[in-house]
Amino acid sequence: MNLRQGNRIVVTGAGGFIGGNLVAALRKQGHTEVRAVDIKPFEDWYQRFEDVENLSLDLNLRENCETVSRGAHEIYNLAANMGGMGFIEHNKALCMLSVLINTHMLQAAVNQGVQRFFYASSACVYNADKQKTFEAPSLREEDAYPALAEDGYGWEKLFSERMCRHFREDFGLETRVARFHNVYGPWGTWYGGREKAPAAICRKVMEAKVSGKHEIQIWGNGEQTRSFMYIDDCIAGMDLISHSEIREPLNLGSSEAVSINRLVELVEEIAGVKLLRKYDLNAPKGVNGRNSDNSRIRGYLNWEPDTTLRVGLEKTYAWIHDQYVAQEGKSSRYSMARP
Ligand code: NAD
Repeated sequence: MNLRQGNRIVVTGAGGFIGGNLVAALRKQGHTEVRAVDIKPFEDWYQRFEDVENLSLDLNLRENCETVSRGAHEIYNLAANMGGMGFIEHNKALCMLSVLINTHMLQAAVNQGVQRFFYASSACVYNADKQKTFEAPSLREEDAYPALAEDGYGWEKLFSERMCRHFREDFGLETRVARFHNVYGPWGTWYGGREKAPAAICRKVMEAKVSGKHEIQIWGNGEQTRSFMYIDDCIAGMDLISHSEIREPLNLGSSEAVSINRLVELVEEIAGVKLLRKYDLNAPKGVNGRNSDNSRIRGYLNWEPDTTLRVGLEKTYAWIHDQYVAQEGKSSRYSMARP
């Protein structure tokens, strides 16, 4: 990472998927002053490292945001209530309450003289009318307006993006915003109801293989298209965007769009099985098509996420497989092995 190694970096949502992987990457880069924060009790963090400062605090509360921002040079705000389609469709109020975290973190960052503030937005901010076809329309940054974001989760992200902009304009806080498009990879949620499509499909294929019941349930008709970004690309992109002078929200996603049926096929190939597909047309499935238009990030940074879905899925499947095997014989259905 580009920062001087002695500067304190705060990562919120560090007990979760992207935050945990970011803390791991910062350590690898040699940063010694990392503060990792999450509301979850420590035993539920996906990754936790003893050589960083770990805090279990609720960042909905302003005073906790002041505490975690004290002495910070840079903040990555990744804390949010979130999950796959099944979660965000049924928990709209909870998703919108994440506005408290970002609002209080921005206020605390200004009070504590923080230099840079990164906010994790989402492709869910894009106008739903532009995502009606299955041919994976590539979404350009300007397609967020006129606004018709994903109900609940997407509206909160869009509002918080704008708040970042106004905190920069009005209070001089250097905010950076990336719109993540479906991130996947090791140390992510893979069971329990908040998991997203790549992890859910890896788990379902693995369960079908192990049980010998060779069928899989797919949400929707499987023709919905999406792109999926491997976690290493997400971490690299966050670093580049955070330390750039790009002030407007930028897509951070893969431009390799696939249908959910193709995603299942890829995982079947990796697992070496072929499953009977059962489509649940009443399950939440989100918009019909969505892809990341990467013209702007390429133009600015001469870079874009480029891990192929095949390569990323192989690594993810192998990791979920290890987790699954580690649970065999244990009484609880699933939990995570510790790093
Ligand atoms: P995650 O659910 O694994 O991590 C989020 C973490 O935030 C969780 O560990 C949760 O406990 C923590 N958190 C929630 N409320 C909190 C609170 N009040 N105080 C402190 N911590 C709290 O999700 P993730 O995939 O790592 O996502 C990180 C960020 O990226 C989120 O803002 C999410 O909206 C955004 N994002 C993720 C994706 C994706 O595909 N994973 C896509 C678009 C945007």
